[in-house]
Amino acid sequence: MNTVLIIGAGGVGHVVANKCAQMADTFHNIHLASRTVAKCDAIATDVKSRTGRSIITHAIDADDIEATVALINSVKPQLLINVALPYQDLNLMEACLKTGVNYLDTANYEPHDVAKFEYSWQWAYQERFQQAGLYALLGSGFDPGVTNVYTAWALKHCFDEIHTLDIIDVNGGDHGKPFATNFNPEINIREVTAECRHWENGAFIHTPPMSQHQSFTCPDGVGTYEIYRMYHEELESLVKHIPTIRRAQFWMSFSPNYLKHLEVLQNVGMTRIDPVIYNGMEIIPLQFLKAVLPNPGDLGKSTKGQTCIGNIISGVKDGKRKAVYIYNICDHESCFREVGSQAISYTTGVPAAIGAKLILEGKWSGNGVFNMEQNDPDPFMEELNKRGLPWNCIELTPEQAEHFVVF
Ligand code: NDP
Repeated sequence: MNTVLIIGAGGVGHVVANKCAQMADTFHNIHLASRTVAKCDAIATDVKSRTGRSIITHAIDADDIEATVALINSVKPQLLINVALPYQDLNLMEACLKTGVNYLDTANYEPHDVAKFEYSWQWAYQERFQQAGLYALLGSGFDPGVTNVYTAWALKHCFDEIHTLDIIDVNGGDHGKPFATNFNPEINIREVTAECRHWENGAFIHTPPMSQHQSFTCPDGVGTYEIYRMYHEELESLVKHIPTIRRAQFWMSFSPNYLKHLEVLQNVGMTRIDPVIYNGMEIIPLQFLKAVLPNPGDLGKSTKGQTCIGNIISGVKDGKRKAVYIYNICDHESCFREVGSQAISYTTGVPAAIGAKLILEGKWSGNGVFNMEQNDPDPFMEELNKRGLPWNCIELTPEQAEHFVVF
């Protein structure tokens, strides 16, 4: 009997719980724990109404390692799925090591007090997971996650060597609110206001946030959007594990309206992460901002449009230059009909559930800490087609790849 413990009852946790419940042959017992048990109970009610399956809920502060160890010991899962926040990654990895449980997350560790995210902290657990005979899968969302698997699949099936990688994340959805973020506002704003880094000729090049942008027309009528170059964590693992990559960049679409609000919020100091004194109390402006912004988990009802996330990859095959575009298009309203969430939570939660499935079925296994591209991409790509995130791979000319022309 397989038992999983999901930590985090936000937008992504909602999708993971529903998707695991849909796959009854693999996920026999599902437990869901978060700081606020009422949020877990609401998800359990939703899952019951959609799938008829029961989820057992718990309250946990995942920053309390001993309490988490006690919870794990009572639930006895084979796998812990961390869809809380990046701040909890290391504590949850510690708890897994203490209890002998495999680990999966969707975002790399980030300390509270510095807006800096990198794999070094989690890669440092490599030896301990190896010695414990445990498997930790890092970044099993869409980006990171599916984008890493797309790259590994392209290397396996399309190229002898990959030379350039451009990951393009377009959200063509409209939630009808003046300003909202599609996932946790604090994490989202820390990410998009960070200095940009991209990989070129063996080093990360630093440029000011949002300083490089261009227009991108998505395939299949999704539309044309302005995409901005920014740093994203999968660049770090992909250039490490695929050392032939000469240039790797990550691009994300932002509407003029989003950028206008973000600029004002930055200018007035609302995105600061250092404490300020207000009425004799210390508050972190960005955390306060999160409290007044719409909850991303509630945006599903009003969001229309599609996401289009994919990789433009170029390199050589049999001595000839070659390029491909691998992508998924996901419709916000279809996601809401299926699981009650918008496409950003959906495109993150489905790959987390697929990663968990492959671990529980023994198709992805090993001792140590693994990024997605270190595993065989084929079973993951097959599951994407079956579980709601079908993909397409089209061949481009190298010139089309260079100019981001994908059809
Ligand atoms: P939400 O803010 O909606 O949910 C986070 C949940 O974690 C909340 O239920 C919160 O509980 C819980 N939580 C926070 N701190 C703790 C704690 N100390 N102990 C226990 N539970 C805690 O975030 P999302 O669902 O939008 O995002 C979840 C994760 O997914 C994030 O790490 C995010 O970075 C990642 N992500 C990854 C993507 C990818 O493609 N790879 C894309 C989008 C998101 P409470 O509400 O009670 O405070």
